[in-house]
Amino acid sequence: MTSDAVQPCPVADAHRRLMDCHTQWHTLHGSYLDPDEFRLNLNSLVPNLRNVTWLLQKQKAVIPDFANWYPAFQDACKKSEIMGWVVKSRNRITKEADLELLSSCQVIWTKNWLERVEGIATFPPRMSTPEIVHSLRHSNTPPVGLITVRRRWVDKALPSWELLAATAEAYSWLSQILWKAHEAFGVDRCDLADRSVECVTSALCSTLIRLPCMDLAQSELQAHFTMSGGVVNEQIERLDSNPTILKAAGERYGELEFPRSGPIENVPGFMKMARTMMERDGYHHTIAFLYNGERGVGTRGMQFEDQNAKMLAFESLADLVESTRADGIVIISESWFAAQTEKEKELDTFFFPARDRLDRTEGLTVHAATRDGRQMELVSMVQRGPNGEAICGEPVDLTVMGANTLAPIRRKWDDMQKRGL
Ligand SMILES: [Zn+2]
Ligand SMILES: [Zn+2]
Repeated sequence: MTSDAVQPCPVADAHRRLMDCHTQWHTLHGSYLDPDEFRLNLNSLVPNLRNVTWLLQKQKAVIPDFANWYPAFQDACKKSEIMGWVVKSRNRITKEADLELLSSCQVIWTKNWLERVEGIATFPPRMSTPEIVHSLRHSNTPPVGLITVRRRWVDKALPSWELLAATAEAYSWLSQILWKAHEAFGVDRCDLADRSVECVTSALCSTLIRLPCMDLAQSELQAHFTMSGGVVNEQIERLDSNPTILKAAGERYGELEFPRSGPIENVPGFMKMARTMMERDGYHHTIAFLYNGERGVGTRGMQFEDQNAKMLAFESLADLVESTRADGIVIISESWFAAQTEKEKELDTFFFPARDRLDRTEGLTVHAATRDGRQMELVSMVQRGPNGEAICGEPVDLTVMGANTLAPIRRKWDDMQKRGL
């Protein structure tokens, strides 16, 4: 049994060290563009990450039931590339030498939903972003799609992970194990004081999920451009939790029944809800619900002004899939539909997006996909009344078509598979 009241921290040494790691992580992020500062900060963060479990193990005699739950964590750690890297790196830093850090500025070209090329070019980290964009405009990259310029630090021993992401991942593991230790003592929230960095509190994660502050900080290290010159901004509306949306929705739409099963099973329920909202408001925002099994792990509202911004919004959603360990997703959106003409079929790459066409029709779409390959898509065609009011038709099953917008999510799941996540 846990209690809501704040109680003394039962594993204060380990927990304080974890909070130190959180502060140090933000310091590491702040020094990203300074190679020496970055190395210095990484050299102090990594051993501290390692020390959290040592400090916890020191207390094992007094932690309830330790022998029953801790070994499972240790086993999982042994299989985790990241946790293995933390142990080895700590030894390298304290006994041998620095990690072999490589810094690069990576360029990604997102041509369209299905074609995305990572690392079309790599620039020295000291080159400014405008210089990089200038150089790319004079290269052979075709003038379509979206260019992402991303700064990256990697350790030679962990080439597939950027180091802020790697250390954020290690932090999540440790936060979860300390949550278990607190739970063993029946402590829901302990009394360790908040730190001066606003997000550094004693709160712990009950599941393996990365901190939103760390996610947000990492997204600051990349910039997006169209080849024709415009900067494309990520517009992310973070929705706190399902209950918040439900409360607001409940007041506006009366009795709305929020579907409570897994993502695929929830599609008809979400469609029913979306039709009510569409007919009430005349529009529907794009909203994504992320799941781990049947458990909701995240919600995101998405806005975009054009096709490039939309691709970007879905790439960013794919990053959220990784940091929340989502293995299922439901997306509700208003969409435009149009058939490709014979001429366009010939000219394949010049197919205009439906939203830019005059012969478009309007629909309300709910689609879902899971990491194990299941998917479902329902579409309700929308007719407009004389005053623009929306009338939603009976939903049609379009599952076989497979939505393009899910391509970034599928790529992410493949990538996670390769990295053992
Ligand atoms: Zn504590
Ligand atoms: Zn933080």
